[in-house]
Amino acid sequence: MSNKYVGAHVSASGGVFNAPLNAKAIGAKAFALFTKNQRQWHAKPLDEETIETFKTNLKESGIDPRHVLPHDSYLINLGHPEEQKWQKSLDAFIDEVRRCGELGLDKLNFHPGSHLKKIDESACLDRIAEAMNIALEETEGVTLVIENTAGQGSNLGHRFEHLGYLIDKTKDKSRVGVCLDTCHTFTAGYDLRTKEAYEETMKAFDTIVGFEYLKGMHLNDSKPPLGSRVDRHHSLGCGEIGWDAFGFIMNDPRMDDIPLILETIDDTIWAQEIRALYDLVKG
Ligand SMILES: [Zn+2]
Ligand SMILES: [Zn+2]
Repeated sequence: MSNKYVGAHVSASGGVFNAPLNAKAIGAKAFALFTKNQRQWHAKPLDEETIETFKTNLKESGIDPRHVLPHDSYLINLGHPEEQKWQKSLDAFIDEVRRCGELGLDKLNFHPGSHLKKIDESACLDRIAEAMNIALEETEGVTLVIENTAGQGSNLGHRFEHLGYLIDKTKDKSRVGVCLDTCHTFTAGYDLRTKEAYEETMKAFDTIVGFEYLKGMHLNDSKPPLGSRVDRHHSLGCGEIGWDAFGFIMNDPRMDDIPLILETIDDTIWAQEIRALYDLVKG
């Protein structure tokens, strides 16, 4: 029996309670979702009935809450160089952490932030860390899961050192983790295509960040090449990374028991992609 929990970032349109059913329909054992419209700042609070329906449907799906990896809004920038906009992001972020808690979920996946070419990298990382520490103080029970990025534009988080630095600055280390996105890892310059390259990348990750902090992965192939620092996902096996990397992951015990989430571009083949990933498991 495989200890891998594979799923996809499913739609929550019509209500968050639809996400577990959408996951079940494609044979997922894990899923990601937005707990509010990801392109708007404000959302109405989750009401009792919505929360109860979500929990009922989650149980019905057979998916463990630990294998659900909510993703925050794209508008949030915890590294924002301007005070007011940083505060607006922090307030929205805290609201999202609370929403996850209300739904009985224990993680929130977020992109660290961008310096917008107005402050240097280390000042930006310090702002992100400060925001994370405030969010942790004002909430409970939810782990902040930093996603590595492709490093497009002024986005930070493309170097493992950035992730390590943020963890180092986080006061409550029991509630911080990371999510590795294979497309972002690859376009940030870390190769995954051969067994040797994969092991080298994972060794660097372990040294600089530590596998004890790995709380989830996003499984995506990449349209742009290695080191391009461009974030464009592709269906598995159709991009520059290729199938081998996903075989290494599916047979790597360091990725046991964490959500492995597809964010690939063709949602009509997610069920196929999930099955294909499980078919890669040896023995
Ligand atoms: Zn991702
Ligand atoms: Zn991406």
